[in-house]
Amino acid sequence: MSRSSRKPHILITLGPTWEFIDPLRFITNRSTGSLGHLIAREGIRRGHRITCVSGPTELPRLSGARWIDVVSADQMYRAVSKIFPRADVLIMSAAVSDYRMKKVLHSKLKRERKKISLALVKNRDIVGNLAKKKGSKVLVGFSVETEALLKNALRKLKAKRLDLIVANVLSRSNNPFGDHRVNVSLLWRDGRRRDLKSVSKKKLAGILLDCVEKLRRTTLAT
Ligand code: C5P
Repeated sequence: MSRSSRKPHILITLGPTWEFIDPLRFITNRSTGSLGHLIAREGIRRGHRITCVSGPTELPRLSGARWIDVVSADQMYRAVSKIFPRADVLIMSAAVSDYRMKKVLHSKLKRERKKISLALVKNRDIVGNLAKKKGSKVLVGFSVETEALLKNALRKLKAKRLDLIVANVLSRSNNPFGDHRVNVSLLWRDGRRRDLKSVSKKKLAGILLDCVEKLRRTTLAT
């Protein structure tokens, strides 16, 4: 079977990552994992081969997908790097922590001290690093911004060599977290843009898979 006719292997990351400070506390990003989960479900329904690398969420594992649970950004990096060479598409919907503790504390941080400072170091950029070995793979990223949405999303699209980025704004009138209707903009590497108003995440999951399938056909044809 030729590469273009076989069903794609789609690797989807979802949920947040946790970066432990001490055994009880961690640094994280807001994310429920709902969109990644809906994309995975729709992918299974379409007969695609789906691998999910999931941070800690309340969502159930999907039996039709290969499922890998991780906690930290570093664990996610390792799991995704391992699967990536065998994937045709990477959908990076996880909200990966940008920083982790330089040194995780082994016992509980006491509250006696009036002021504390935590030394943080930067986590590796998963999709940014893997994009160097992109080949004909399709890469999709996400961006949640509080200001300069399109400018920031475009910068990420280029810096991370993505084919498509889903830009979400976090504002009083638009809460991108959870399974409800959202306003998003899709930005393509070739400059195209599509604004979706009040779209359900289920519908968005289907639209994104349509885009991925189209991008894959185009990449394989060139
Ligand atoms: O956190 P940020 O908005 O920069 O994330 C943009 C995209 O990059 C997202 O798709 C996210 O999953 C991905 N990312 C990543 N590795 C990181 C941080 C973000 O792949 N360390």
